Amino acid sequence: MQRTWIEETTNLVGKSVRLNGWAHRIRKMGDKLVFVDLRDGSGIAQVVFYKPDLAPDVCAKVDELKPEYVLEVEGVVQKRGEKQVNTDLATGTIEIGAKTVSILNTSQTPPFPIDQDTSSVGESVRLKYRYLDLRTQRMQNHLRLRSKWVQACREYLFGQRFVEIETPLLTKATPEGSRDFVVPSRLQPGKFFALPQSPQQYKQLLMCSGFERYFQTARAMRDEDLRADRGFEHTQVDIEMSFVEREDVMRMVEEMITHAAEKLGFTIREKPFPLISYQDAMVKYGADKFDMRSEEEKAKGVLAYAWVIDFPFFERDIKTGKWTFTHNPFSNPLPEYLEDHLAGRNIEKILTSQYDLVCNGFESGGGSIRAHKPEVLEATYKIMGYDQKEIESSIGHMLEAFRYGAPPHGGIGLGVERNLMNLTGEAALREVVAFPMTASGVTSVMDAPSKLDDATLQELCIKTCEK
Ligand code: ASP
Repeated sequence: MQRTWIEETTNLVGKSVRLNGWAHRIRKMGDKLVFVDLRDGSGIAQVVFYKPDLAPDVCAKVDELKPEYVLEVEGVVQKRGEKQVNTDLATGTIEIGAKTVSILNTSQTPPFPIDQDTSSVGESVRLKYRYLDLRTQRMQNHLRLRSKWVQACREYLFGQRFVEIETPLLTKATPEGSRDFVVPSRLQPGKFFALPQSPQQYKQLLMCSGFERYFQTARAMRDEDLRADRGFEHTQVDIEMSFVEREDVMRMVEEMITHAAEKLGFTIREKPFPLISYQDAMVKYGADKFDMRSEEEKAKGVLAYAWVIDFPFFERDIKTGKWTFTHNPFSNPLPEYLEDHLAGRNIEKILTSQYDLVCNGFESGGGSIRAHKPEVLEATYKIMGYDQKEIESSIGHMLEAFRYGAPPHGGIGLGVERNLMNLTGEAALREVVAFPMTASGVTSVMDAPSKLDDATLQELCIKTCEK
């Protein structure tokens, strides 16, 4: 018999079915009756074992059952009497009258109950047994919602002529503001790759390649100190478009975000998304990320999106006193500041074409129109104090690409985790990531980082030292 998903059983009253899943809860009622809530990837259904009707070997197996045993059950879908309907279960109008059961695998007693929310279970236990944590309803819901949200974004983008293109993970260290993770090269001893902090340069090069509309659900790695809302790696819906102005990208992203949120049943507080300048946001909210929702809207999970624009391009680095970029060195200044930008004049006044998408007090995305003329990007680096040699070694390849007919372009990166935290109302990143790190930077389930053996180190020409 073919396997039936639990979710589909409600339409199959009177039919024989084969179900597969885990024993979620077991209730023994006297000697004759055993109820097993069976859980699969689509839901939970009550399976009834009425021993007087079952063969002795089946009864013996029913007596062995424990939570999280993996089962195959064959039985008949039965409509429940009106008083027996369980409104807490999506399948509460039916139950399965079991005929046989096979135990496909046993289970040790899990370190925490799977049929309960694990929010209050200690982090180290949850992450050591992450595969069990992920079985719980809340975690299943979050990761399934994440998949649907990304799918909805994809759906929208494919409808708008976007091409999904992967960019390399082993790449060059870039000046994007954070510390890089590095990977040693075996073939070129003493040299290192860097893992991308974002696909920024590659997506711009794809605009130089004539793709015009690119996207990718990209992994990005930054070796930053960890916080509840920031991990070493994150995923972003990464987008770049040619022949656009700031408002074109913002409109497109707004449509995509609205499509995804509304498709998943969420309410957006204000459409079109309100637009506010950085300066006004600082005066009004004291921050460039703000929450416009009332207490009631917060309780209802309303999404309050807003755009923030007109950020200063540069600020003084606290340590060196030199000018540095506030958001993205590859941005264009706003057109009215282009002359000053090229001349390195009135630097503190130059505004960038950056736009940040804010939602419920957090930054859910950010992007800009880029410098596509070599002299503009070069001017940015000159303002930041790079000499000609340093400019050449860090962005020479971009300047060269721009000399071969680079189109005007711009884009955005939308943090998948941050957006999911907003959708789920969770305050910690680990609640929307399958296998997150611990607060001290150790992976879930598997013990990394770990030491390399001497032979591997030798092959890589690496000597380690004690700190
Ligand atoms: N590269 C930027 C980031 O990762 C996003 C963008 O400007 O497209 O934040």
